[in-house]
Amino acid sequence: MSTDRAGAAAALAARVRAVEDAAAQPAGLDRLAVAVRGCRACPELAATRTQVVPGVTPRAARIVLVGEAPGAQEDASGLPFVGRSGQLLDVLLAEAGIARERVAVLNTLKCRPPGNRAPSRTETATCRPWSTRQLALLDPAVVVALGLSATRWFLGPTSLAAVRGRVHERDGWRVLPTYHPSAALRFGPAGEPRRLLLADLRDAARLADQGS
Ligand code: SF4
Repeated sequence: MSTDRAGAAAALAARVRAVEDAAAQPAGLDRLAVAVRGCRACPELAATRTQVVPGVTPRAARIVLVGEAPGAQEDASGLPFVGRSGQLLDVLLAEAGIARERVAVLNTLKCRPPGNRAPSRTETATCRPWSTRQLALLDPAVVVALGLSATRWFLGPTSLAAVRGRVHERDGWRVLPTYHPSAALRFGPAGEPRRLLLADLRDAARLADQGS
């Protein structure tokens, strides 16, 4: 490994350790959200975001929905999954018979990448301890990974086609990979992504009922 790469790896490890330490301290989800909102571990994101989007984490949540990163509307509102994707998600949750107070919604990255670019690997790694700690505190019956990026966050390099439609055990979580609502919007109301996303949400509801 070159000196530059070794230095970058050491700097990333130090940043991840600092976030791990910060994430380990708050006693509950509300205090954790306060700590996330103060995070400046990714210099570019901290400089360009409007606000951090820690997620919505009702205590009664048995299902956690996980997306990739906030977009422009989430950055403006401080809430995950607002806008058209969030509206469709609300419709599909209702169709699946899942009450919103049973659902927590997180993104693997808590700050909007400028211009909605893809999060860098460094940013994703740095932010990981926040979501890991949220999951530990929520202790859900099932986690639904929305889209390929969130799926890879849990399962590593893979394709959605290879893993969708099955429950995967990872780090003690039952993970159900599925389509992102934006794919369901793109392919329209009669498209496969919408149909399969709804089917997967129904599976998540069944798993949550079994685990209650
Ligand atoms: S993306 Fe995560 S780790 Fe990076 S500054 Fe935002 S909250 Fe901190």
